[in-house]
Amino acid sequence: MRTVTLNNGVEMPILGFGVYQIPPEQTERAVSEALAAGYRSLDTAAAYGNEEAVGRAIRGSGILRRDLFVTTKLWTSDAGEDKARSAFDASLRKLGLDYLDLYLIHQPYGDVYGSWRAMESVHREGLTRAIGVSNFHADRLVDLSDHNEIAPMVNQVETHPFYQRTADQELMRARGVQIESWGPFAEGRNELFTNPMLSEIASTHGKSVAQVVLRWLVQRDVVVIPKSVRAERMAQNIDVFDFELDADQMAAIATLDTGASVFFDHRDPAVVSRLGNVELKA
Ligand code: NAP
Repeated sequence: MRTVTLNNGVEMPILGFGVYQIPPEQTERAVSEALAAGYRSLDTAAAYGNEEAVGRAIRGSGILRRDLFVTTKLWTSDAGEDKARSAFDASLRKLGLDYLDLYLIHQPYGDVYGSWRAMESVHREGLTRAIGVSNFHADRLVDLSDHNEIAPMVNQVETHPFYQRTADQELMRARGVQIESWGPFAEGRNELFTNPMLSEIASTHGKSVAQVVLRWLVQRDVVVIPKSVRAERMAQNIDVFDFELDADQMAAIATLDTGASVFFDHRDPAVVSRLGNVELKA
C-alpha cells in the first residue's frame, strides 16, 4: 500500500477503511472483511459508537498491531484538557489497544485548545503516533497550528469531486498538514455514482466510478477512507493502484467542483450550535 509521510515522519497508508454509519452489530463483520480484503488503515470515532466492534475485528484478524494504522476521534462533549485525556483512555480501552496511530479532534468546537494540550501530552507519552484535527477550515487550522507547540499532522475534511478543497490542500501542504478526505463519494449525493463524465472516464479504464474517484484523490495525494458494508465494494475500492488518470481526465474532473459542501457548512452558526452540542451516549 502506498503511504504518505506525516510531518513527524510517521508513514500513513494513503487508502483505508471508514466505519461511519456502520451499526455496531455489523461493524465486526465489516471490518473483518475489510482486513481480509487487504485494508490496513481503519478510521473510527468515539461518536460512531463502534470502537469496541472495531477492536474485536482487529483482535480476530491475527494481523500484527504494527502492520495496522488505527485512527479514532475525540467528540466535542469531551473537549477540554482533562475530559479529552479521559476520552482518549476510554477509546483506547474500547478498541483494546495500547496505542493509537492517529487521534483527531472530530469537530472544531468547544475547548479545542484544552483538547489539543491533552493530545500533545498523549503524543509525547507515545500513546498515539500522530495527532490531528477534522473539519477545521483554514482559519481555525492556522490559529491552532500557530499557537501550540505541535502542529496537527492531519486534517480530515469533506473532500470529493463536488467539493475538491484544492486551495485548502495547498495551505495544508505549505504548513505540513496532510489532507485526508472524508466522504470521498459524497455518500452518493448529486448522483455521483452515475455521473456521465465520471462514468465515461471509468469506462475508458475498465473501472467503476468509485474507483475513478478514489484514484483521482490518491493522485492528488489525498488520503482516502471509503466506507462500504459490502465485500465486493471493499475489494473494488482498494483496487485503484493499477491504472492512472491522465492530465485531461484530471482536468475534466476538476470542473465538477462546486466549492461548497454537499452536507453542511461547519461555519454555519446553526450547525455550530447543533453539532457542537451533541452529547455522546454513555
Ligand atoms: P463515502 O465513503 O463517501 O460513501 C459511502 C457510501 O457509498 C455508502 O452508502 C456505500 O454503500 C457507498 N459505496 C461505497 N463503495 C461503493 C462502490 N464501490 N460503489 C457504489 N457505492 C459504494 O461516505 P462516508 O462513509 O461518509 O465517508 C467515508 C469515511 O470518512 C467514514 O466512514 C468515516 O470513517 C469518515 N467520515 C468522517 C467524518 C468527519 O466528520 N471526520 C464525516 C463523515 C465520514 P454500502 O456501504 O452499502 O456499500
